[in-house]
Amino acid sequence: MNPEQEQPSVRRIVLPSGRSIEVVRFGERSHSARGLHICPECNSDLVQPVGWSEAPDDCWNLALNCPNCDWYAEGVYTGDQVRELEDRLDEGLADMLRDLQRLTQANMADQIDRFVSALSADHILPEDF
Ligand SMILES: [Zn+2]
Repeated sequence: MNPEQEQPSVRRIVLPSGRSIEVVRFGERSHSARGLHICPECNSDLVQPVGWSEAPDDCWNLALNCPNCDWYAEGVYTGDQVRELEDRLDEGLADMLRDLQRLTQANMADQIDRFVSALSADHILPEDF
């Protein structure tokens, strides 16, 4: 394997807004051992695509952003890499929905507890309804 192909070139570009971004160009479809969801700066696994467009040969142009350290990169990635990222995002979404469900249940349990104690303390009167 040619090691030069594994080394992406990074260019820092300052946008008109003043924000600087890093543009990462990978060589011939190098396949990163780390998933795209892992941030190369802070190792967070929360990297998300913030922009994408189709590229030739089952590849995608992706703009990736890490919400943890605000790392940003654009690059061309293979369909396999993008599908793996999609799977990760689906897992993340499922995790988040499970958390939300637990939170909702906890809130409801808390409300019911307070309602029951207010009811038994006669703080709830017919005119409350
Ligand atoms: Zn990061």
